[in-house]
Amino acid sequence: MEGFDDQPGHIWYNGALVPWKEATTHVLTHALHYASCVFEGERAYNGRIFKLVEHTERLFNGADVMGMDVPYTPAEMNAACDKLVEVQGITDGYVRPVIWRGSEMMGVSAQDTRINVAIAAWDWPSYFSPEARMKGIRLKTSEWRRPSPETAPVHAKAAGLYMICTLSKHAAEAEGFDDCLMLDWRGHVSEATGANIFLSFGDGKLHTPTPDCFLNGITRQTVIELAKRRDIEVIERTIMPDELKDATEIFLTGTAAEVTPVGVIDDLSFTVGEISKWMMDDYDEIVGKQSPENSNEDQSATE
Ligand code: PMP
Repeated sequence: MEGFDDQPGHIWYNGALVPWKEATTHVLTHALHYASCVFEGERAYNGRIFKLVEHTERLFNGADVMGMDVPYTPAEMNAACDKLVEVQGITDGYVRPVIWRGSEMMGVSAQDTRINVAIAAWDWPSYFSPEARMKGIRLKTSEWRRPSPETAPVHAKAAGLYMICTLSKHAAEAEGFDDCLMLDWRGHVSEATGANIFLSFGDGKLHTPTPDCFLNGITRQTVIELAKRRDIEVIERTIMPDELKDATEIFLTGTAAEVTPVGVIDDLSFTVGEISKWMMDDYDEIVGKQSPENSNEDQSATE
């Protein structure tokens, strides 16, 4: 794939559709220096964005937490996302809205910067092949921890929070792992770098960390609903790293990851069990995913 600054089609940029290559910003943009930016990661299946309203709501809540007054309404953003998917001719793809402070002020204070809004959407039909997903991905525990809610806006999908995710994921990939398990500031199991985590301990129930210092993912909430439909009890609680050795199956959930089983965490191995398979199938069904014949092994993990 070419670089992301040169793709076919258009980007919705402050209310207008501009040719993809021309959707640029100045190097002195506040967001680039001070991380004054929130974004979303959405997926379209069969030309329809899954849970668009929920994604837009999280985006606006994040902008609000960051003190950014978005010059569009959520309804206008939803319409723009839908329109872009149509204009870009996307059937199965990824949608990335982003809101950031511009270059009108340079310094920590930035009250008078323009609040910019853009949306990009591109084809992304591929996901892990059934074989790759069934093997489970390999995680390494990160040395970086999710921060306490007193030190960062932890419930916003804010760009600054991804600094430690990139550092963590690079360290994991350098050692041949696919992603990281991140602990939180207290040493509790929290999530991966762009996905939430669920565990089963062989009792037919699902356990997942309470999202008190990381995103309560939209996929996470969907999977909790799907589990309930199957009468699987979901327990949200504190999970300690030394419990991992007792887990029988583990999977991640996220817009990009969808439901992805975990095969390894550090020196522990897990099998892909029945509950993981049910949740994968149920999730594929609820998003309206096309049959697996159309899948391939492109694992580009946008989040
Ligand atoms: N945690 C982090 C850090 C993420 O980036 C994401 C992806 N947005 C998630 C969890 C999962 O959230 P969602 O299911 O809403 O995509």
